[in-house]
Amino acid sequence: MYNHKEIEQRILKFWQEEKIYEAAKKKNENGKKVYFLDGPPYTTGEIHVGTAWNKTLKDFYLRMMRMQGYNVWDRAGWDMHGLPITHKVLEKLKLEKQDIENFGVEKFIKLCEKFAVDNMNIMTEQFKKLGVWMDWENAYRSISPEFIEGVWWVIKRAHENKFLYQGKKTMHWCPSCATSLAKHELEYEEVEDESIFVKLPLEDKNGKQIKDEFLLVWTTTPWTMPFNLAVMVNPEIDYVKAEVEVGAQGAGNARNAAHSGAPERNSVRKEKWIIAKALAGAVIQGVFEKKFRVVDEFKGKKLEGLHYVHPFLQDIPFHAKIKKENKKAHSVILSAEYVDVGSGTGLVHCAPGCGPEDYEVGHRNKLPPYNTLDERGTLEDAGKYSGLRARKDDTKFIQALREKGAILATTKVQHDYAHCWRCKSAVIFRTTDQWFFDVESKLKEKMLAENAKIKWQPEWAGSKWMHSWLENLRDNGITRQIYWGIPLPVWQCSSCKKFEVVGSVYELEKLSGKKAPKDLHRPYIDAIKWSCKQKGCKGNFGRLSDVLDVWVDAGSTSFTCLDYPQRADLFKEYWPADMIMEGKDQIRGWFNLLLVASMVALEKPSFKQVYMHGFINDALGRKMSKSLGNIISPEEVLSKYGADATRFYMISGTPPGLDLNYDHREAEIKYRSLGVFGNISRYIQDYAKVIGKPSFKTSAKDAEEVEEKYILSRLNSTIKEVKELFADLQFNKVPTLIEELFLELSRFYIQSTREKLSAGTKQEKEAVLNTISEVYYKSLLMLAPVCPFLAEDIYQQLRDAFGAPEQGSVRKDKWFSEKSIHLHPFPQADEKVINKKLETQVDIAKQIIEAALSQREEAKLGIRWPISELQVLTKDKDVEAAVKELDDTIGRQVNVKEVKVKLLASSSSAGEEGKEFKGGRVLLDTELTKELEAEGFTRELIRRVQALRKKAGLEKKDKISLAICGKGLGKILDAGKIRELVNATSLEISDDESKYRKQELEEKFMVREKSMKISLKKLQK
Ligand SMILES: [Zn+2]
Ligand SMILES: [Zn+2]
Repeated sequence: MYNHKEIEQRILKFWQEEKIYEAAKKKNENGKKVYFLDGPPYTTGEIHVGTAWNKTLKDFYLRMMRMQGYNVWDRAGWDMHGLPITHKVLEKLKLEKQDIENFGVEKFIKLCEKFAVDNMNIMTEQFKKLGVWMDWENAYRSISPEFIEGVWWVIKRAHENKFLYQGKKTMHWCPSCATSLAKHELEYEEVEDESIFVKLPLEDKNGKQIKDEFLLVWTTTPWTMPFNLAVMVNPEIDYVKAEVEVGAQGAGNARNAAHSGAPERNSVRKEKWIIAKALAGAVIQGVFEKKFRVVDEFKGKKLEGLHYVHPFLQDIPFHAKIKKENKKAHSVILSAEYVDVGSGTGLVHCAPGCGPEDYEVGHRNKLPPYNTLDERGTLEDAGKYSGLRARKDDTKFIQALREKGAILATTKVQHDYAHCWRCKSAVIFRTTDQWFFDVESKLKEKMLAENAKIKWQPEWAGSKWMHSWLENLRDNGITRQIYWGIPLPVWQCSSCKKFEVVGSVYELEKLSGKKAPKDLHRPYIDAIKWSCKQKGCKGNFGRLSDVLDVWVDAGSTSFTCLDYPQRADLFKEYWPADMIMEGKDQIRGWFNLLLVASMVALEKPSFKQVYMHGFINDALGRKMSKSLGNIISPEEVLSKYGADATRFYMISGTPPGLDLNYDHREAEIKYRSLGVFGNISRYIQDYAKVIGKPSFKTSAKDAEEVEEKYILSRLNSTIKEVKELFADLQFNKVPTLIEELFLELSRFYIQSTREKLSAGTKQEKEAVLNTISEVYYKSLLMLAPVCPFLAEDIYQQLRDAFGAPEQGSVRKDKWFSEKSIHLHPFPQADEKVINKKLETQVDIAKQIIEAALSQREEAKLGIRWPISELQVLTKDKDVEAAVKELDDTIGRQVNVKEVKVKLLASSSSAGEEGKEFKGGRVLLDTELTKELEAEGFTRELIRRVQALRKKAGLEKKDKISLAICGKGLGKILDAGKIRELVNATSLEISDDESKYRKQELEEKFMVREKSMKISLKKLQK
């Protein structure tokens, strides 16, 4: 096998010293421009095997494009802001978010920057070792002032287009990280919570409590009760009014005792509870252990507008206030979509500030997203409940409700609950002031239409996944309350509350009359303030403290990667991106945000083609994780089989969109294939020493015979298919086709021409070597984008051997005119040479050969023992034609003197004799005649001599003197043939010891029960 470590190091150095990447770009300066947009990896640590896969696919694409003459924009990029980095730095400092002000914001963001840059440098080196050629020197970085200005431009455009707004929104919130969480940052896990059944007293139209009538609601989040503003029922569901006996005696089980508030011992009172009909039995009898009687039945719609008394009406001032101001507050509202009878009571408590569904129904009924939790999840402004914490103090909320007599029962419930992806804390809901891109009201339909025009590979990634994502698209919150991020470019007057959205440094300087800081991050940017110019206003403009979510950074890259808006020329030449390539998690991530950002800025899509890949799992298809201990690192993979075999495997491993179950055995198979590929190069060089330098391009007279016609047809049809598949972004099929071609060259063509190459006429020999060379050279070119190191190494070997200029002349040989293989164009298919019919016929012939060889093996007849006849029995006319066309080839490969074919009538049987193949049966005449036996001994001896030559380290061109000894051999061996094939100048064959002259090297052996020996000596020329 080849030494991949040595090759990779040497080639990397060669590329660097000779500036090959720069030369490859320069070559295409005037080529057609193609904008490839690199989705920026996040700089939190070293690359993992999934990132390696992603960049390998990108590099493969870029190399293919460069070889086809395109002038590709290949600027690498980095995502360097945000929470994960903030957290890593805080972890290192052993600080929490609220300590940052004391620690010093400037010191803190400098550390964040250093962390991001250090990782960027490590990752760059790792990608380079994989052979990834991108513009690393000039990589775009989300922390640069140009990048930040580009994002400000997007925000400003969104503002001018009226797609930017500030609003209150209920958000998933991590109380431990003190930040809002996007959907993709939630992890669901099953937990056990205390759920409560609460009864809410009904009121009449005059605001008087109706005696003993209640709504029954059920909730798994007791802490949301202070924020309850309504009760939702499904208008279509049947509800009942159930009469229940309550009181001291009725309090069935002690733990779940129903608190009816009955004043007298042993007295029996009756209450009327409203509950979904379908659940009445399960809840009243099953949970409360009480008897009931239905006194009324109606649809949910009839309950709309009924008012109830909130248990905390007297305790939290807000409730008294909203009850006065808002007719819908503390009343029954309708929701067909979020209320069912799957669990609970069929009446759902609604806290619009505590969840997206509640928000939506509340919003419809003009109820505000009321929620007073602070960023640590503690209630503020909530009367006597101020200071209690969401979730953590659930028991205290339950106790308070119990004291009010509102709790009917508590039960444990197991359910999936959202947790923070980072710190694993249970998530709560908060209502905060955030900024949004408005995509719901106007852009959504346009985005759906634009998406349908984008080419997606796989197709379903666009037509199904992206389409359904866009159908459910919601306004994107774009702000975060942290320090390390692009500052939201919004300044607001402290007095009149007017605000300015700033789109550039120039604009900021004009507004403020001050020089903008070089570094646009916090805290520097926050020093820019100016006094309000509004008549009579004495306020000051200061920046709102928010920063932008990192997804806005990444989403803006279609602009910032082209240095827009600082430069207009590149934008004009390249935008929108021709190609983007990322993993399947980016449907809701980067693909989405990239589209959103360009839609809010220009109302145009920012990319034309997408290649989506899956995830990398372990060999068993399990997700790689620390806990399973099945993580495969890129280092491990590279040190085992090298960058080329890894790339080969990763590119070919799985169709677009699907996961790759990383299996070392598969990588090893590719490694072995590459070994076979390398051996062909040595084969060519060895024979060239005997036959002369090959031409690397066959002429018409080289390709007169069927084997040459066949392999050249395969070569050209492969080139053609590879180009078509690549153009359709079916990347995985490309390396496989190239592999099939060079394995066919090695296993079929080289096998079947071995004898011609060593014993044929001069013209035959040249024809074979030229054919091998042409197929190999073009395979090498095609392999270069897949395995750039090995391809370069082999190219350099061949160049040393065959590319040297004639003495004193300039280099003329165009096959090796470039100093690197990566400067050559991709091979062109010669369609005239493609003969699909012949390719099919060779496929049939190969099946016949395989069947015949296996029959030989069963008869214990080594391949060197010739057989007189092979007969093919078939009912298939195509098989008949293939045998007639390829009888010589079959004969040579199976070593039979005559190949016959018999076409059988479709009704007749082919019998049981011989060996079956797909198109019929193969029969061998295995009887040995004297002549065949003699030929067999001759071949066997030739093989032994060749092996001994090899053992002695002789090259093909070295001449020998040879002696053979064995009883009866003198009469039967073909001395002329032996002499020619083993390059023997003198040959002595003796029947007994007395005449045998031993030479330097000797070997004794038995062939078909005859003992014999050979000995040879290298002759000096
Ligand atoms: Zn968290
Ligand atoms: Zn003002």
